[in-house]
Amino acid sequence: MSKTLQAIRGMNDILPEQTPIWRYLENTLAELLDGYGYSEIRMPILEFTELFARGIGEGTDVVDKEMYTFLDRNEESLTLRPEGTAGCVRAMLEHGLIGGGQVQKLWYAGPMFRYEKPQKGRYRQFHQMGVEVFNLPGPDIDAELIVLTWRLWKKLGLADSVTLQLNSLGSSEARARYRDALVAYLQERYDLLDEDSQRRLTTNPLRILDSKNGGTQALLVDAPTLHDYLDEESLAHFEGLKARLDAVGIRYEINQKLVRGLDYYGRTVIEWVTDKLGAQGTVCAGGRYDGLVSQFGGKPTPGVGFAMGVERLVLLLETLGLVPEELNNPADVYICAFGEAAELAALGLSERLRDALPGLRLLVNAGGGSFKSQFKKADKSGARYALILGDDELTKRVVGFKPLRDDSEQQSIAWDALAEHLAACLKQA
Ligand code: ATP
Ligand code: MG
Repeated sequence: MSKTLQAIRGMNDILPEQTPIWRYLENTLAELLDGYGYSEIRMPILEFTELFARGIGEGTDVVDKEMYTFLDRNEESLTLRPEGTAGCVRAMLEHGLIGGGQVQKLWYAGPMFRYEKPQKGRYRQFHQMGVEVFNLPGPDIDAELIVLTWRLWKKLGLADSVTLQLNSLGSSEARARYRDALVAYLQERYDLLDEDSQRRLTTNPLRILDSKNGGTQALLVDAPTLHDYLDEESLAHFEGLKARLDAVGIRYEINQKLVRGLDYYGRTVIEWVTDKLGAQGTVCAGGRYDGLVSQFGGKPTPGVGFAMGVERLVLLLETLGLVPEELNNPADVYICAFGEAAELAALGLSERLRDALPGLRLLVNAGGGSFKSQFKKADKSGARYALILGDDELTKRVVGFKPLRDDSEQQSIAWDALAEHLAACLKQA
């Protein structure tokens, strides 16, 4: 027996009943970013593996365990992008768009791929909407990114359901000094660490701060704290950011253990977190990555950005019942036609209505059918009006105009007056 064809585990179809909420999210963010002067960029989904190995960093979970990597027919190692920042930087460098200090404010949206254990809020193909800014080194732009996400939460009705976690990772020198101190402290307590953290002690020690293991967390209580090691410039940058958030009234929680999974962050790191989704509570994460561009061979170039998980935001909106009613967008009009001549007239009429009333949501009955079956379909479509065309109407050059959502009488309307009549009715309703 042949096996039923199935999608790959962790890769979801987004079905028609779900796409309106996706479009709502994407459009809301796109509009908002327009208002702040950000431009969209679209990058390829496949890149050379080296881009991510160099950009995200060996020793990170993403590079070591989560990438979809394969050889193409030309024996080149390619990887399905696990995130957008590396590709965005590659594109900027390749097209000479940041090397001269030009400011770029960009956003992108699309699928990302990570080989993770699929569960609620965590998939193997998932979608991010991300923002990246280049050549602005100050805390003002870090603040702007936070302010605009905060505005998005307000627009979506999520402001009370997410909280902002904030940290500074300092300069790479400060981080190196702190890393040494942390490693020395944990090395003495090696046997008490969980297995993952023991491994990370050599590969990526700062990530231990992020460990969910209770024993390891207990050890960390007395560990050296990051902010004791921060350099003065980074501290000033952090103060500048906090002052701006205070000025607009955005609350935050400073979390010195917030380190982020990717290697390229320094100074500001942020996460917006919700307690409404269980373990997968981070809906937006990002920070400053001033070292990344030079890691790719470009001139030192400040960079800062964030990415939000679209699936998690969709889940959150659904969980909280915040999907707007009007997304359930039924038709305005359904045209019923009986007989071939009427069908031809209905098609011509429908196209004239579309010309006259842009944006009209009009369904033309397809597949023929009796009066009864066409009315049933008209009703089911959610349309407010049915237009009826039979032989009789055809001779008189009128349509039967039947309101479907109230008890008012069916009227007879001349073809020439139809657009105007319909516009008036729709405006009134
Ligand atoms: P997590 O700690 O949840 O694994 P991360 O630190 O790996 O997240 P980032 O690389 O910063 O995540 O990605 C930014 C956002 O993208 C996350 O905050 C989350 O909302 C979303 N995201 C990341 N991985 C997944 C996934 N596998 N499925 C769904 N959403 C994801
Ligand atoms: Mg992850």
